[in-house]
Amino acid sequence: MATTDYDVIIIGGGINGAATAASVAARGYRTLVLEQDDFASGTTSASTKLIHGGLRYLETGDARLVHESLQSRERLLRERPHLVRPMGFILPVYEGDPRPPWYIRSGLALYDLLSPRKVSPWHSSFSERELQRFEPSISTDQLKAAFLYHDAQVWSPERLTLEYLAQARASGADLRNHAAVDFIIVDGSRVRGVDFHDVLSGRRSTASGSLVINAAGPWVDAVLEATGRSLQRRIGGTRGSHLVVDLNGRGPRHAVLASAQSDARPMFVTPWLDHHIIGTTDVRDDEDPSDVGAAGWEIDYLIAEAARVLPGLGIEHRNILYAYSGVRPLARAGEGVFEGAISRRSLIVDHAAEGVERLVSIVGGKLTTAAELGRKVAESVAQRIGRPRARGITALPKTPTSRTVFLPPETQEHLRTVYGPRVPEVAAYAASDPSLAEPISAQHRDIGAQVAYAVDHEGARTVADVLLRRTSVGLTKDLGRSGAQPTAMIMARRLGWSEAMREQAVRDYFAELHRRFVIMDPSVAIPPSEQLADEQSGGVDQRGG
Ligand SMILES: Cc1cc2nc3c(=O)[nH]c(=O)nc-3n(C[C@H](O)[C@H](O)[C@H](O)COP(=O)(O)OP(=O)(O)OC[C@H]3O[C@@H](n4cnc5c(N)ncnc54)[C@H](O)[C@@H]3O)c2cc1C
Repeated sequence: MATTDYDVIIIGGGINGAATAASVAARGYRTLVLEQDDFASGTTSASTKLIHGGLRYLETGDARLVHESLQSRERLLRERPHLVRPMGFILPVYEGDPRPPWYIRSGLALYDLLSPRKVSPWHSSFSERELQRFEPSISTDQLKAAFLYHDAQVWSPERLTLEYLAQARASGADLRNHAAVDFIIVDGSRVRGVDFHDVLSGRRSTASGSLVINAAGPWVDAVLEATGRSLQRRIGGTRGSHLVVDLNGRGPRHAVLASAQSDARPMFVTPWLDHHIIGTTDVRDDEDPSDVGAAGWEIDYLIAEAARVLPGLGIEHRNILYAYSGVRPLARAGEGVFEGAISRRSLIVDHAAEGVERLVSIVGGKLTTAAELGRKVAESVAQRIGRPRARGITALPKTPTSRTVFLPPETQEHLRTVYGPRVPEVAAYAASDPSLAEPISAQHRDIGAQVAYAVDHEGARTVADVLLRRTSVGLTKDLGRSGAQPTAMIMARRLGWSEAMREQAVRDYFAELHRRFVIMDPSVAIPPSEQLADEQSGGVDQRGG
């Protein structure tokens, strides 16, 4: 069993663990990140993907949280424009809605005022006729008022997480995915390190560290149990489910935010890639976050509410590509507190008060505010373990070194949206091996170079790591079916997989799709081995579906 020394060990490679790693490593601490599954595969991959101040948190009196989140939104819009884009939200108000137009107008004015150095325009309102012209799919039946305000969307929270991790790696951090922490070593009252195992190889290891940061999102309490001490439970998670629907190019061009008729909860329909996301629900959930899935009633509820606000589109169950769910890692609230009223504020909990020193847990936190939360955690590290021995390295993206003009313009544009300033690093693979300049399937714009880059620089170890989290190939119409086999072939060459391992990797991909999503299309089944062998002998399957 190998043992390695670190200053800081971070458990959890979701957005909060990743952003914390970036800040901690930049200060010069020897940092290890351990993620039991893949980076960003937990709650981070299951959100509404909004970068927002949280308009409705104004109702719970959390104006400071809204202000801080709006500051973060503006920073992300400026610093990561390839991933985070402005998005207009239309807010229709109907007869019988719980919030009257004057109330919403005041809320939007406050929201604008709380937004510092605002990049996006101020809110405005529509007459019925203007709304019909602007976004004809929205119902005007019993309409009392309609507003337009601006927030933002991160099209890939997974890639935002990878960018934070890339910063951490550039500052010297050691990043391990598929590495599950089994035990936190506590000597007397002080944490000394962790025992963990590599889930794919089974290899067991020990890492010693001066400080352990528990950034396990909804698994925070399970990680606390791994100390063997009885520590207070911290998480009171609520499940939120979303539908990804294909509206055949007829969906709204702007996001829509409406009050659900059945329970007055906010309901979003947002354009995303070539599809739309409908969300979300808010249900108390104390089950294992690894087994989370949308219940039938949640799917029915989201379809019914979206169909009511967008009646002309004929939204039905057959439009659903898949449903996904995640557990919000919220601070535990007392029984009887309404789910929507549980605070979205994040907490940094030091367990010294409970008799376990040098163990800190992150509770809560949003995609929007992860970088600031990471900075706060990093600032507090010196108080706990002192200054680092080495000076920090400021991590900047590498200067472009390779030309991209040899790639078709649409591929160049696609790479820019995925990698921003790192495009030349990816394009270099295609420049040195022309086979990697080809799309991985006829259904997708993503090219082989992205698979190679994901393996060599972004820690991808499974087909799902590439198709679901390094790219969005598996999240769109054919759920990556046409890309799985070609991706496995490129990975096999780099990772030395045998033919049997490659076949298994494709089967594992389909199994993961079914584990993560409720898939309505019965043809997305795990392929039997014989079929994979046929596809291989007849060339790469590009039929899609
Ligand atoms: C339905 C829903 C909608 C949301 N919408 C938005 C939104 O629009 N905008 C926004 O800003 N925020 C949104 N959020 C909130 C946001 O997504 C989460 O707060 C954030 O992703 C939490 O990140 P995290 O890193 O703390 O947790 P996670 O992403 O869950 O990461 C924790 C990681 O720890 C790992 N882990 C657990 N146990 C171990 C172990 N023993 N060893 C190693 N690793 C371990 C897990 O595998 C996991 O990957 C939403 C959340 C939900 C559920």
